[in-house]
Amino acid sequence: RAKESHRNQYEFFTPIMSAQASERLTVELELRKALERNELLLMYQPQLEFKTGRVTGVEALVRWLHPKRGMVSPADFIPLAEETGIIIPLGEWVLRTACLQNKAWQNSGFAPMRIAVNLSAYQFKQANIVQVVADILKETKLDPVYLELEITESVAMQNAEQVIVTLEGLKSLGIQVSIDDFGTGYSSLSYLRNFPIDRLKIDRSFINDITSVQGESTIAASIIAMAQSLKLEVIAEGVETEVQFEFLKSKGCTEMQGYFFSKPLLMEDMTGRLVSMRES
Ligand code: C2E
Ligand code: MG
Ligand code: MG
Ligand code: MG
Repeated sequence: RAKESHRNQYEFFTPIMSAQASERLTVELELRKALERNELLLMYQPQLEFKTGRVTGVEALVRWLHPKRGMVSPADFIPLAEETGIIIPLGEWVLRTACLQNKAWQNSGFAPMRIAVNLSAYQFKQANIVQVVADILKETKLDPVYLELEITESVAMQNAEQVIVTLEGLKSLGIQVSIDDFGTGYSSLSYLRNFPIDRLKIDRSFINDITSVQGESTIAASIIAMAQSLKLEVIAEGVETEVQFEFLKSKGCTEMQGYFFSKPLLMEDMTGRLVSMRES
């Protein structure tokens, strides 16, 4: 009987596993070609300053416009890109495209703003990452003060000494650095003090917790206080409601990003937004 059930297991699992493996291989091959075929695109989500109401930045968010599947979100292909190493050329494409686009907006006469680009842990750990960023800045002629790189708190928490060396290299280019999804990694005030960074980005989950203007959302409020004591800027991501907006404003949060103001926009729609803001 034992032998029989073992046999059944074997026969049951093999075809499924190989179907998954071949599906994965297909996606991997398609992802490799996606870059050459121009199937990737960036969407842009505005970031707003509480004090002035101005758009001070945009975050670039990658999408894969798959010929059959339509718009694929990064959660569905970034992990595979990371496992296969495709993230390196893909990440460079994102960085170059974002810098070019920001430079193009500036050339069109819009008020200069930052563009924030997400950097994968794999990119951050590349020995030549500082040179890669320097080359793209030179190639695209974007003033470095208008580029921001977002690294996640989990990246910042590995091998602190090496992380600080890389961050110092990046900061020496004149760019800005923010810590994305902040609050999920339990890093402390004393740990962060040593990091040459500009901005903390409060993770969406803590913004989601804010349900009343008066109520204390202790985590978001304490991250804002922490940022203030470290003299860092602080931006909230995933702001969806007026209540969240008012709460964050009252706590002294510097900037916000989220559906409350705007979803991520196609390039043309972001340009339209910039036009209407200039006219108003
Ligand atoms: P993230 O960097 O934390 O980006 C914020 C995500 O929250 C985006 O999802 C954005 O569309 C979404 N979002 C913004 N405002 C709201 C809101 O008010 N409510 C809700 N529910 N969601 C909101 P998206 O574009 O699907 O990206 C997911 C993640 O994929 C990003 O999280 C980032 O970690 C990663 N990612 C995106 N683009 C890139 C890229 O170019 N390179 C790398 N390495 N990762 C990327
Ligand atoms: Mg981000
Ligand atoms: Mg984030
Ligand atoms: Mg997030």
